[in-house]
Amino acid sequence: MNKKEIHVISVSGGKDSAALAIYLKEKYPNREFEYLFFDTEEELEETYKYLNELESRLGIKVRREYPAKSFKELLLEHNDYLPSPTERWCTRKMKLETFMKIMKEYADCTVYNYVGIRADENRQGLIPTEENIITVMPFKDDGITLDDVKRILNDSGLGLPKYYEPIKDEKYDIEYFRSRSGCYFCFFMRQIEWVWLYEKHPDEFKKAMEFEKSGYSWIQDMPLSELIKPANIDKIKISYKRMEEIKKKQQIKNGTMFQEMDFMSKHDKMIDDMEKDQLCTMCTL
Ligand code: SF4
Repeated sequence: MNKKEIHVISVSGGKDSAALAIYLKEKYPNREFEYLFFDTEEELEETYKYLNELESRLGIKVRREYPAKSFKELLLEHNDYLPSPTERWCTRKMKLETFMKIMKEYADCTVYNYVGIRADENRQGLIPTEENIITVMPFKDDGITLDDVKRILNDSGLGLPKYYEPIKDEKYDIEYFRSRSGCYFCFFMRQIEWVWLYEKHPDEFKKAMEFEKSGYSWIQDMPLSELIKPANIDKIKISYKRMEEIKKKQQIKNGTMFQEMDFMSKHDKMIDDMEKDQLCTMCTL
């Protein structure tokens, strides 16, 4: 007997997974999809609003799932040791385990797990090894790039998540925004994104600051209480401006030269490196 087929799209509150949901609904209007969102309960309000908007525009229901333990409980279990790019227990405990719990419901089915990695990206994401789960990357298969994703979102009327709306700082002549979905305290943020959080969501920034205990900080050698000192914000904004100017002049074609830019913080260089291939699809698509 043929196994029942289940089609799963995990949406993160980010642009790529939202575009994927729209794209697949248009491509396969008669196919039934299960939309999943792994809510860490530490998300930005923009993320929740974006998901609500996605639901109403597509006429779908996104199933919200929560981790067995809250971030606070997990942090306590980890003796206040904050997650980091190299010790990424947060994604495993708060998203991956939740995903696998749901997959157990479908143990007797063939699950098509659709992932929004684009054709212009060079990364794999996390691919479950269970035999009944088949990972499908429609954007890669169909040559969908970042420009296509933006077009899909614009055409649908959904647009980009609101955290992409930049803060304009005329003093420095810069615009900056948050570039990813996920927890408001995500350590994958560059320093300018932490400044964005401080200015746009001071309450969330304060909560992130309160998680820094026992000498652990979200950014190595830069506790958030230090980051918000005017002299450091000044330095971060100047560094960001220089980097943006260089990008605009197209003096760099890829990330490698960032490593040689001594004005960039160690933290931002590391994030650039990680971003090339290690950012997991569960948090950032
Ligand atoms: S968004 Fe960042 S902090 Fe949250 S689970 Fe993912 S990697 Fe961890």
